[in-house]
Amino acid sequence: MNKIPLLDLVSQYKTIQLEIERAVLAVLASGAYIGGETVRSFERMFADYVGVSECVACNSGTDALYLALRALQIGPGDEVITTPFTFFATAEVISAVGATPVFVDINPHTFNMDVTKIEDAITDRTRAVLPVHLFGQPVDMSALMQTARSHNLYVVEDCAQSAGAVWANQSVGSIGHIGCFSFYPTKNLGGCGDGGAITTNDPHLAAKVRMLQEHGSKTRYYHEEIGVNSRLDALQAAILQIKLKYLPDWNYHRTVAANRYQQQLEHISGIVLPEVLKKGQSVWNQYTIRVTESMVTGQGNHRDHVRQFLLNHGVGSMIYYPLPLHLQSVYQSLGYGAGHFPIAEQVCREVISLPMFPELTEEQQQKVAFYLNEALVSS
Ligand SMILES: *Cc1c(COP(=O)(O)O)cnc(C)c1O
Repeated sequence: MNKIPLLDLVSQYKTIQLEIERAVLAVLASGAYIGGETVRSFERMFADYVGVSECVACNSGTDALYLALRALQIGPGDEVITTPFTFFATAEVISAVGATPVFVDINPHTFNMDVTKIEDAITDRTRAVLPVHLFGQPVDMSALMQTARSHNLYVVEDCAQSAGAVWANQSVGSIGHIGCFSFYPTKNLGGCGDGGAITTNDPHLAAKVRMLQEHGSKTRYYHEEIGVNSRLDALQAAILQIKLKYLPDWNYHRTVAANRYQQQLEHISGIVLPEVLKKGQSVWNQYTIRVTESMVTGQGNHRDHVRQFLLNHGVGSMIYYPLPLHLQSVYQSLGYGAGHFPIAEQVCREVISLPMFPELTEEQQQKVAFYLNEALVSS
């Protein structure tokens, strides 16, 4: 039986193997392993791709978010508004700089932060909004920017899952004050290890990030701030530079696959398919459906049954994410409880992400649809 994995990094590697190997060997022979010209040229290429004047590459998406908040001088006493339905790093960095994450509930169809709820969460301590373009889909940035502007708030975009996504003809990462990207291997633009970058049109912010990522130093061995060590390896930059050329094509194929899923799955009852807002273009880092709770049977969790059934038939899937951030044990001190963000909580009980990668074939998707339907009928 041919397995259909959630994602398939090796089959993508094989399509560009010679090019990658040549670039990696060139870096190995160059002796310049951290920073240097390879990293600079990747930064210029990525800035062009996002449509901004500045890009600073760093060690991870988490670091990109951390450096962005530090560069904006967000710290103790400050509040940052974000979503409870995201990867933990989004809120973790707010806490790491000493500020307080403030959550607002999400939209059950896009999985993104409900921008109409931001206004009510603003206090006189609010300094920034941190939207996450989750699963590849842009947040409604028109509404969000309007709210942020009218309250003088910074906007830090978490673009970790959305390299190439567009809102109203603007690439994510070019709309707020600063954009934060991850090049973790499973992201749409993934390296062969950790990596990240910030993008901005503000040269002062970019310079500040550069200083902070080099131990708070502009001139070597002279330190102005307490910074961190967060640089991109030349090996990763060389690999990412090659992969960036293919990203538009890969994102296109993800979109084709998402449209096919839409057609294959729309008649299956008991599930809800993801929706993309009119002004948005998703890059489909994940294709995430909801198995509606009304389908829950007496025999434990319905979603788990569906996942197990798929697994038994060789179809990979994943739960992104099982527990919203306001209910994480580490955040008990924030004072939230069950029922605070009912949509995020429900979505966490219902979501399943299905196989999604650019090389996914129509035949593979037909199998996914077939077994998904079987799973729902059999439970
Ligand atoms: C992956 C991810 C991050 C963190 O990126 P790393 O490179 O793994 O540090 C942050 N936010 C979101 C939404 C992510 O998906």
